Amino acid sequence: MLTSIVGINWGDEGKGRMVDLLSQEYDIVCRYQGGNNAGHTVINDRGKFVLNLLPSGILRSDVVNVMGNGMVIDLEHLHKEISRLREAGVSITPENLKISDKAVICMPYHVMLDCLEEDRLGDAKYGSTRRGISPVYGDKYMKKCLRMGDLKYPAIYHDTLKHVLEYKNLIIENVYHAASVELAEMTKWLDTYAAEFADYIIDTSLYLDQAAKEGKKIMFEAQLGALRDIDFGIYPFTSSSSTIAAYAPIGAGVPNHKLDQVVGIMKAYSSCVGEGPFTCESFGKEAEELREAGGEYGAATGRPRRVGPFDVVASRYGIRVQGCTEIALTKLDVLSYLEEIPICAQYELNGEIIDEFPYAAILPEAKPVIRKVKGWHCDISKCRTKEELPKEALDYIQLLEEMTGCSIRYVSVGAERDAYIRMY
Ligand code: GDP
Ligand code: MG
Repeated sequence: MLTSIVGINWGDEGKGRMVDLLSQEYDIVCRYQGGNNAGHTVINDRGKFVLNLLPSGILRSDVVNVMGNGMVIDLEHLHKEISRLREAGVSITPENLKISDKAVICMPYHVMLDCLEEDRLGDAKYGSTRRGISPVYGDKYMKKCLRMGDLKYPAIYHDTLKHVLEYKNLIIENVYHAASVELAEMTKWLDTYAAEFADYIIDTSLYLDQAAKEGKKIMFEAQLGALRDIDFGIYPFTSSSSTIAAYAPIGAGVPNHKLDQVVGIMKAYSSCVGEGPFTCESFGKEAEELREAGGEYGAATGRPRRVGPFDVVASRYGIRVQGCTEIALTKLDVLSYLEEIPICAQYELNGEIIDEFPYAAILPEAKPVIRKVKGWHCDISKCRTKEELPKEALDYIQLLEEMTGCSIRYVSVGAERDAYIRMY
């Protein structure tokens, strides 16, 4: 049984909390793309955790967690993230954490180049998390990277680093006119973490293939959402990796296996952190109220998120490219303060009303067509069954199902592990 859990929108839909909840029924959780630009919040009986690199199954003692080859890993950040969790009493050992030998290492100079480029862009910046993600993925495809498996062979990685650094310093010094990166310093950085992580690095592709053949239940955890995908998202305001479910078997290391299920995590309203066209965006008081109600501040960066009503056009597109078999609708409780709930039902583009998500470059021209529906206007955070939900909330859920064409199996009404309703 292979399931992928993916974001339908711009990220921050609540994937972390849904993976934490649903991983109960799984043996293995594998992150298949992205790096520590992710911020997955999990609140359960052990406390509140923000996970950046570690799969969200790490908080369940009987789940094995895998960091797949599609990921980019900042070793220093991983060290800190693991230390923080250990301090909170979470056990992390080579038994419950396995790191792909083919995952790429995000080096300190990738972070530096990310910042240099965002600063160079000034007002035209991409809204990067400044964690080195785009430079490291760029280098992956330029074949100028070190991978986790290299750390087991010091003579090899010392040599590779020397060659790679010669190339990187040409760019750092001549393009950005910044101070070059010292080989000795980078070697020391790698040596430190090579020793720490050696026992965690394995051929996770083989491990997952065998596990799948033994009938183990495997969940693939995505970072960000469909609209931040490098191919299908709002390019260039996307992330630099594939956030799409179809990529999960590749990024996890098992392209020979097919997904059985794709659970799309879709938020009851919209939020978008960083730059880029965001057609359904609300402003002023309306935006402030929604941001406060939803606590919409970046989990990885603390940045205030842009917010707006549920966007039917973007969500239907997200569901299509993700190939969802079912939906988990999150944060429905956040809309309880509204007497009337706005929905961005269609877009208007060049005087035409459209239903299909437009090409990214002309997206800034699109205007939202807003429709309003009656709110429930009462606290639903204690509801645990469908029957307990007010009629207007059920109507809202049904309307989203009809408008997006996908069935909603779970609805969450709070951030805690048990604050959800199973619809069928
Ligand atoms: P992710 O990146 O998709 O994992 O999502 P984030 O963790 O960045 O953002 C989701 C935020 O919403 C977190 O602060 C969660 O604790 C919170 N959250 C998740 N589900 C719910 C819910 O049903 N209701 C409320 N009020 N908050 C939720
Ligand atoms: Mg997040």
